Amino acid sequence: QTAPKQPPLPSPLRFSKFFQSNMRILVTGGAGFIGSHLVDRLMENEKNEVIVADNYFTGSKDNLKKWIGHPRFELIRHDVTEPLLIEVDQIYHLACPASPIFYKYNPVKTIKTNVIGTLNMLGLAKRVGARILLTSTSEVYGDPLVHPQPESYWGNVNPIGVRSCYDEGKRVAETLMFDYHRQHGLEIRIARIFNTYGPRMNIDDGRVVSNFIAQALRGESLTVQSPGTQTRSFCYVSDLVDGLIRLMGGSDTGPINLGNPGEFTMLELAETVKELINPKVEIKTVENTPDDPRQRKPDITKAKELLGWEPKIKLRDGLPLMEEDFRLRLGVDKKK
Ligand code: NAD
Ligand code: UDP
Ligand code: UDP
Repeated sequence: QTAPKQPPLPSPLRFSKFFQSNMRILVTGGAGFIGSHLVDRLMENEKNEVIVADNYFTGSKDNLKKWIGHPRFELIRHDVTEPLLIEVDQIYHLACPASPIFYKYNPVKTIKTNVIGTLNMLGLAKRVGARILLTSTSEVYGDPLVHPQPESYWGNVNPIGVRSCYDEGKRVAETLMFDYHRQHGLEIRIARIFNTYGPRMNIDDGRVVSNFIAQALRGESLTVQSPGTQTRSFCYVSDLVDGLIRLMGGSDTGPINLGNPGEFTMLELAETVKELINPKVEIKTVENTPDDPRQRKPDITKAKELLGWEPKIKLRDGLPLMEEDFRLRLGVDKKK
């Protein structure tokens, strides 16, 4: 006769969960633009303890200054390409430069961050049994031949171009997530984020919304990269953060597109910024960079159905909120 099977002993973390209902959440890249807004939202829930791991490459402690010293908050200077040994229940894995200027600055480091960084966070999630969410990107669709882009589209990506460290890096990161899910039973969530904007974007990081707002406030010409007919869809950061939290809390692995389906050409965006912020500035056409996707717009049917999510803030309402933050940081007063 065989002895009855014993259930496995709980890990120390699982055991402690038995006594306390607090949720310990790691946010990698939490000192960055989206990460710091996510931290603000997570900290609003008194049951959450938040740990940020960031190497400050494109992020800053300034973005988190209101939480430093808070008993439910910890900030660690850490590069995700190195192993990390901590105990957490959930991981939002955002660490990775997102602006083309910064991710192209050291492409080898960008791909290491995407591949080794994601591998390490998956190893951590596996060891402690945490659920892990990856912030992937619409760039996995490359220069898309299907428009708008549903999650089922596999993309049109140049594997050896100057953007590949980022878009191919994120594609491998998604593959790693699914392999850990299938092979080790990890609970994964993947968000494919489309262009996001809002307060705390790096002023000079070269992304189009931050460039145009800074240029308009400084009285410089708005630099539309040719041909100017290329399109993007811009999501306000609070909407995006709401989508990330719903995805983490829901039951679908994704990938799920998170973005605002409102689609604009770069010329239309320049004209809107000019009208709203500084009608005196000129709009000039400048040379573009290689492999610039010609059109991009999310199909968010899945997010609507599975998460009950859709963006609320229109571009015309979000731009003035970002303008206010840029005015403060650039020291430009509101016109009388
Ligand atoms: P960001 O550059 O403001 O933030 C990235 C953060 O990651 C920074 O704080 C940076 O210091 C940190 N970081 C970079 N490399 C690291 C490393 N090796 N180890 C530890 N920390 C590291 O960018 P963001 O706009 O907040 O983007 C956050 C995430 O969302 C990224 O994964 C990005 O790919 C994704 N995303 C953003 C957008 C967007 O429009 N902003 C669109 C699609 C996807
Ligand atoms: N890892 C980590 N923190 C942990 C557990 C693992 O950073 O708490 C890293 C580990 O260093 C390894 C990676 O995650 O490089 C993948 O770990 P896994 O256990 O899946 O693979 P293995 O160590 O067996 O290669
Ligand atoms: N762009 C532009 N002027 C700028 C910066 C960017 O016209 O000063 C264009 C760029 O060519 C691209 C779009 O804006 O077509 C979005 O660029 P961004 O770098 O913001 O994001 P991504 O290319 O990653 O979508």
